[in-house]
Amino acid sequence: MSILKIHDKYFKPYKSRKKIAKYVSLLAQQVALDLGKKEVPLFIGILNGSFMFVADFIRAYKDQCEISFVKFTSYKGTTSTGEVRKLVGINENLEGRTVIILEDIIDTGNTLVEIYEIFRNKKLKQLKIVTLFFKPNVFRKGLPIDYIGKSIPDKFIVGYGLDYNGLGRNLDSIYQLTTRKMTNIVLFGPPGSGKGTQATILKDIYGLIHISTGDVFRYNIKNSTELGLLAKSFMDKGNLVPDEITINMLKAEVDKNTDAKGFIFDGFPRTELQAKALDNFLAEKGETINGMVALEVEEDLLVKRLLKRGETSGRLDDQDESKIRNRFNEYKNKTSVLKNYYQNQNKYFGANGVGTIEKITERLCQIFDTL
Ligand code: AMP
Repeated sequence: MSILKIHDKYFKPYKSRKKIAKYVSLLAQQVALDLGKKEVPLFIGILNGSFMFVADFIRAYKDQCEISFVKFTSYKGTTSTGEVRKLVGINENLEGRTVIILEDIIDTGNTLVEIYEIFRNKKLKQLKIVTLFFKPNVFRKGLPIDYIGKSIPDKFIVGYGLDYNGLGRNLDSIYQLTTRKMTNIVLFGPPGSGKGTQATILKDIYGLIHISTGDVFRYNIKNSTELGLLAKSFMDKGNLVPDEITINMLKAEVDKNTDAKGFIFDGFPRTELQAKALDNFLAEKGETINGMVALEVEEDLLVKRLLKRGETSGRLDDQDESKIRNRFNEYKNKTSVLKNYYQNQNKYFGANGVGTIEKITERLCQIFDTL
């Protein structure tokens, strides 16, 4: 389970499938125990949200029972509107029956009160309410809630039948609305594609922290730190620095910026292992990568650009064509797979990296503005 984006909002993992199954089976056991084997209750699920809960509940309920559904609309967006439109689906003659209402979640209780009143007028033997989730802090009604799977705080949740503006019902676990603080972008592209140049401009436009792993390594080499000495032999040949060293360094750089609005990662991740480590590291903070923005440029043009840069940059790895070619090999063998990695999460956004600096910035901004 990781952070999910549904419409315009982010949701973090809240209740796993396993936990939900535990609440559901406990509820079914309690109800069965209280009713006894002789009683054949009619369970009434409140659609749409309860369909998954009801399906699981009745499978966990081992005695004889009947099942029906009523439908009712009261949710719009992330807060209950309280507005009740129409209740459909009560056809059975319910006189003398034990009716048990199955709700996925009870918050204000507005919807439930209306339904409860309708059933109460049907000369039932008994009427009980079972809810998987209950928000005690917002419940404002005098109704008896007979069985509660789990009391939860007043935060919007989605999944396991519950939706956010129509989406999310099919998730098999529950996610909670989260207000994300950060915008985290991986600026991607082969060596020389202009990541560094663009990141320097974009970080100011968007108020983000720019972390270039190449720059951090070069800084360490210049200052002859232990990390610098370790990295130098790899970098000079145009090889990648080993993952473990790079990942630890990256984490330390992120943690130096506790108040950051977000990061532009430039030159990281460069391997699938690094990408996974970054995802896990951000997930621990309740954050995620919003997107990989890739500068797309042909290799031959890049070699020319790098050799030209080598005339002034002082970088050994820019001055020799064989080292440059080796960096491309590393890119093709280890780094280019990351396009797929982010594409699979619908997070890959390509931009044409040929043109003036201003034109390319403009193209990137168009993408950044959507992330
Ligand atoms: P760059 O400035 O991004 O072109 O990086 C220059 C060199 O630093 C690369 O050729 C690698 O040797 C090393 N390096 C930078 N970032 C990474 C990374 N994420 N993983 C491994 N090596 C890296």
